[in-house]
Amino acid sequence: MKFLAVSDHVVERLYSLAADQYFADVDLIFGCGDLPYEYLEYFVTVANKPLFYVPGNHDPVYNLENKRAYAEGAENIDGKVIEFRGLLIAGVGGSIRYGPDGVYQNTQREMYWRIFRLIPRLLWNQIRYGRMLDVLITHSPPYGIHDDNTSAHDGLRALNWLLDLAKPRYLFHGHTHFYRQNLEANITKSGATTIMNIYPYKVVEYDHEV
Ligand SMILES: [Zn+2]
Repeated sequence: MKFLAVSDHVVERLYSLAADQYFADVDLIFGCGDLPYEYLEYFVTVANKPLFYVPGNHDPVYNLENKRAYAEGAENIDGKVIEFRGLLIAGVGGSIRYGPDGVYQNTQREMYWRIFRLIPRLLWNQIRYGRMLDVLITHSPPYGIHDDNTSAHDGLRALNWLLDLAKPRYLFHGHTHFYRQNLEANITKSGATTIMNIYPYKVVEYDHEV
């Protein structure tokens, strides 16, 4: 399987790459948040691949005034565990709370409660598939990995806890922007999991039979 993951920043060049069928061999697209929904919709339409995403802390919330706060044709998997062609995927959107009115922002404690709700489905995966999770997509990084000590970019401790429990092969996240594309700073192995900062995009090969 091959993934395209996008996050945080619109890369103009990807429009033409997608139009030129550069991503024809990609099976699945992930959005890790803080992107215009039109950008995600472009990939769904032009690359014509399934797209799963989580919202970032800058994304608009769906309500009666703003009914257009989602990406048409894509699936928001925030707070969900799903199975796609045998691949076990979970999504956790948002970031640490740093402002009083933030939409997709949670305290460390709130984020634990959001993640505890994934446990029944993860246990079910363990029974059914012999493993809990393959790919975790989040907006924020875990605590101490690819985060920094500014209040808005503190990593989420609950994600470290989830990695210990579910041992996914990959965690794809965004939110923290490394302007120098230093591969070592963007990819970190922790236990069973390879943690990748997707900002602004990455193509990942995954050796999974489909
Ligand atoms: Zn963010």
